[in-house]
Amino acid sequence: MNIQRILVTGGAGFLGSHLCERLVEEGHDVICVDNFFTSQKTNVSHLLGRPNFELIRHDVTEPIWLEVDRIYNLACPAAPGHYQYNPIKTTKTSVMGAINVLGMAKRCRARVLQASTSEVYGDPEVHPQPESYRGAVNPIGPRACYDEGKRAAETLFMDYHRMNRVDVRIVRIFNTYGPRMHPFDGRVVSNFIRQALAGEDITIYGDGSQTRSFCYRDDLVEGMVRMMNGPSSLVGPVNIGNPGEFTIRELAELVIRLTGSPSRLRFEPLPSDDPTRRRPDITLARTHLQWEPTVPLADGLARTIAWFRTINVSDYRPPTPNY
Ligand code: NAD
Ligand code: UDP
Repeated sequence: MNIQRILVTGGAGFLGSHLCERLVEEGHDVICVDNFFTSQKTNVSHLLGRPNFELIRHDVTEPIWLEVDRIYNLACPAAPGHYQYNPIKTTKTSVMGAINVLGMAKRCRARVLQASTSEVYGDPEVHPQPESYRGAVNPIGPRACYDEGKRAAETLFMDYHRMNRVDVRIVRIFNTYGPRMHPFDGRVVSNFIRQALAGEDITIYGDGSQTRSFCYRDDLVEGMVRMMNGPSSLVGPVNIGNPGEFTIRELAELVIRLTGSPSRLRFEPLPSDDPTRRRPDITLARTHLQWEPTVPLADGLARTIAWFRTINVSDYRPPTPNY
């Protein structure tokens, strides 16, 4: 196999750390860049002794000079509570982070993949969402720092591609879960599992009829790697997610059943701009990457619950102050 020098920004995060692990196992020379805003060093500490792994504490809003062949750009807070913590910084991370990795890719003639998001579709009027759908995003709402930041990053990727012939790839990731999610990130899967294991009330925002489609992290990482290694004609964006669609209430009931928890459901107000439904159309990924998810929700949740049982949640610190 062709050994590559691969940069993973946000490489200490939930998805980034699994991606680093996989690339290290494949024998690549992996550089993980992270400022640890939403992640823990323990996510990658097991890789530190590996000769083909390097960790750099760095904020992607500042330029960095590295020589690489491939870049996976994942640095960005992803959970609503995390990206709304300092929304201005979130937009800067998306936009300036994109400019910095694109500049590096241009100089090094590297291929660069952007981890975009289903949030570019906003609260969608088209269901399921194909890549051709342009979305319904509120540009001035509390989610805009993330949604519009990611949309601007996609714009930059396409403009560097058209203007400077940078070899780019864009994936739009739908809700992904699995071991190593931050237990206090406020996302629905981590909240429900943590609450169920502690016997606390399960907090459902709204009436729980809103839907999401949940992808297990191994399936997601496989899709991302296939996209990076896919045909050069496939720039994207390509949706990567699990088309299985569940209401939030169904998710809560499944988590209660799988944990055997005595927890009850508690209904709380729905946050503003919370999308009512979300489900990927993955025809492009199926056709061009021969990719589709393989892990059903109940299996992935069982694995995630097993991991949550092994951790001490008090070891996890909240986002870095002054970010
Ligand atoms: P995460 O918060 O666990 O990982 C993000 C990582 O980026 C963290 O390690 C964080 O410390 C780092 N980071 C944040 N700002 C930074 C900065 N300015 N400089 C350097 N590092 C910085 O989240 P995740 O779920 O692993 O998400 C990874 C990527 O995938 C993100 O770009 C996210 O937008 C995208 N994504 C994830 C999902 C999902 O459901 N997990 C869905 C859509 C898109
Ligand atoms: N949600 C919920 N209870 C929680 C956390 C989230 O009902 O404790 C809902 C949230 O309002 C949204 C869905 O679950 O409708 C998914 O939320 P999450 O923050 O995981 O991701 P999103 O897809 O909204 O970015």
